[in-house]
Amino acid sequence: MMGIQTTQKDLFSYQVDLDRRVRQDNPLRAIREKVDFAWVRADVAHHYGNNGNESVDPEVILKLLFLLFLDNVKSERELMRIVPERLDYLWFLGYGLDDEIPDHSVPTKARVRWGRETFERFFVRTVAQCVELGLVDGRKIYADSSLIDANASNKSFVRTSPELAGALRAAYAVEESKFEIPEERRPHSYAPQNLTSLSLTDPDATMATKELRGTYAIAKPRYKSHRVVDDQCGVVTAVETTPGHIHDGACLLALTEQHHRTTGIGAQTVVGDQHYGTRENIRGLQAQGICTHMKVSHNTSLTTKTGIFHASEFRYESVSDTYLCPANQPLTRRSYDRVQRGWIYRAQATACRTCSLRSKCTTSPMKDYQGRSIVHPEGYELLVKGWAQARSAEAKRDLRHRMSLLEGSFGQASQNHHFKRARWRRLWRQRIQDHLIAAVQNVKKMVAYGPTGAGTAAASLNPSPETGSQTHVGHKTALAELETIIRLFLSAFVPSLRTECRPIALFFNP
Ligand code: SF4
Repeated sequence: MMGIQTTQKDLFSYQVDLDRRVRQDNPLRAIREKVDFAWVRADVAHHYGNNGNESVDPEVILKLLFLLFLDNVKSERELMRIVPERLDYLWFLGYGLDDEIPDHSVPTKARVRWGRETFERFFVRTVAQCVELGLVDGRKIYADSSLIDANASNKSFVRTSPELAGALRAAYAVEESKFEIPEERRPHSYAPQNLTSLSLTDPDATMATKELRGTYAIAKPRYKSHRVVDDQCGVVTAVETTPGHIHDGACLLALTEQHHRTTGIGAQTVVGDQHYGTRENIRGLQAQGICTHMKVSHNTSLTTKTGIFHASEFRYESVSDTYLCPANQPLTRRSYDRVQRGWIYRAQATACRTCSLRSKCTTSPMKDYQGRSIVHPEGYELLVKGWAQARSAEAKRDLRHRMSLLEGSFGQASQNHHFKRARWRRLWRQRIQDHLIAAVQNVKKMVAYGPTGAGTAAASLNPSPETGSQTHVGHKTALAELETIIRLFLSAFVPSLRTECRPIALFFNP
């Protein structure tokens, strides 16, 4: 049976009024004022019976998990140890000094009972609230991902036959079914990276190597957290968690869709690094009319060996369905390449053998040379549009801004909210962790930028990074004003230098 925490002053107290003891600028005051945690009772009511022992109030459990990540408390045991000592925690949870604090196993059981969806809905509610408060513009979004160390060691990996590894995975699934998580509520599993090895402590985590400034760190069992951050204030609007081996760009279309669902605003521009500029992503986003400001990955563009004519230097003639090479020789359609998902166009070998530009077009020996070929990928027009957008000055500015915005977002999550290491095991629990951390970060945005002051509370809540976004908003306004003044000045007195004002503006806002 679901219990409800009633907050009433103690009849026989030590003359301690928690409401008076908690300082006015305590961040938890602003959080309690802005965030409704009580919704969770209705959300999880169907998981509780009508009789039997009374449970801990679900609102209290959600608040406990929120505090766990907000203050980066080492563990749930540690949290339960410090709650009775912290007056602000007691006040935030609605407990009195003499109330019994729940056991550390209560949040664990709640996670299993509620499933990850409840925590996902909590995250979505924080996004909706940020939209209501005007903290989300929604039209330009930035995507990135980060590796998270799984709660498993390298030694937990065993190498065995694919059959035995498959049997072990099935056995883990049976064990998990004892937690009474219905099949349809379990997150869909990603195909394992390696069929012959798995971790015995966390079979969902996969070996992934983290790139560190050109060198490579040791491979570890990891997960990958993908997120989308809004341009205006850096609110996290979409989150997805996968095993560590999943490619960064694999979730971009799903994340863009999730952003639309959570904010109700369709993205007009998506910004991402070269890992996101895959053909599938550019095609998928361009087909929806979304601008793609992404570095084009090497295997995505019509990349050729360096030093020879790039495929973009071949002109496509749609009427005759041929390409014209720099020597004006036609390349005709020959065969379909399933791997590259595109048609191969090839020049006549005889034309290439006698061509004066041959040294700039191919490095292949002339013996048995078939003629220069290029691939015409599916959705070619969409790709060309996307590549052109990727080369624009605005895209370059967005890519520079992306670094500060996302590094701020991930940096704050890592430094203050235990983002870089999994607290629990299995993919569905890791998703709970990622949703809670994103929710905590969004709540901090609400408190920091929300309409009702709480300035001091916001300052103490936001001790480090990520103030960059607000600064960015302020800079943008100041810069726009400065740019207008410069424009007026130049147009009035120095007409010939009018064009100079834009580089000045770019200097201030790269
Ligand atoms: S080598 Fe062949 S494809 Fe290349 S420019 Fe010469 S004729 Fe054209």
